Amino acid sequence: MNVAQAKALVSVEEIIGTRIELHRRGAVLVGPCPFHEDQGRPNLVVFPKTQTWQCFACGAQGDAIDFLSRSENITVREAIAMIGRGNTAPSAPIKRLPVPRARVASIEARDAAYRGLIAAERLSPSHRAALLRRGFSLDETNAGQYRTHSPGKAPDGLVPEGVPGFYSIGGTWLTSGPPGLLIPVRDREGRIAACQVRPDSADKGKYLWLSSPNKPGGASSGAPCHFATANGSQLWITEGPLKADLVAARLGQPCLGVAGVSNWHSAIPLLGDAQGVILAFDQDEPGPTRTAVEGITSAFAQDLAARGIKVRQATWDWSQAKGIDDALLSGTPFAVE
Ligand SMILES: [Zn+2]
Repeated sequence: MNVAQAKALVSVEEIIGTRIELHRRGAVLVGPCPFHEDQGRPNLVVFPKTQTWQCFACGAQGDAIDFLSRSENITVREAIAMIGRGNTAPSAPIKRLPVPRARVASIEARDAAYRGLIAAERLSPSHRAALLRRGFSLDETNAGQYRTHSPGKAPDGLVPEGVPGFYSIGGTWLTSGPPGLLIPVRDREGRIAACQVRPDSADKGKYLWLSSPNKPGGASSGAPCHFATANGSQLWITEGPLKADLVAARLGQPCLGVAGVSNWHSAIPLLGDAQGVILAFDQDEPGPTRTAVEGITSAFAQDLAARGIKVRQATWDWSQAKGIDDALLSGTPFAVE
């Protein structure tokens, strides 16, 4: 019996379906990969049309014979013989392998990879319009190097091993993430340490990290704080890289953007020799959210004070503007005290 004869006798869905639970998703079937610690995530995709399968986490892939050989821990020749005997039932539990996880690449390597991605991607008219509506000027939308991200093949020539948001399947480097607005997250030297994506599809959340943990060659973003540079000497701190860019642009003062108030620890390495800071976190209507944010802000302020940094807070009428960006855009007056 040869490969073609064996393949004519069994389908890839049958071989895989007797070993893991598959669910139909349109033209494909998905299930947890049995070859790595998938923790129930449906990373394994079966393509009935081409009679192939692929795990998007560990990179394992092949046809029905490959799956049988791998899951039974036998050679391809033995797998073909097994199909020929008409008994392909599982004979033993499948041996799982840990997914090779790369260390996060150096800041230089991350900066180079993200710059390569930025050079290859464009800013769509609708994303540019959205930035203009938020209060950025045309020049600022260019200077910020925002892009319209669409996941897929990475730009040629990049070897982004360990760069969050990149991963490798069968020797090809790919980018992860939902399609959306790409926002570079920079360190004090202007190097891009990570990227956020504002998904085009609202049900995916407001801002996500470009991240690829548990994927071959990938890494987790680590949620670093963004440094938006400006000529002024008064350091501001707000939530989110885009908001920080807007504060720096409109006020002419450098601004840190933490991924969220509860993420304030990430700002500490970027404080430099700041003598004082102005905190400008979102103002919520009185209620549990506001109380929670105030509690976290107060813990942050105490930590800063213990470092000898003078802390002031920007406040404005929460019913007029939620974020400092909204206040700046609508001309809502704010006080710093
Ligand atoms: Zn896998």
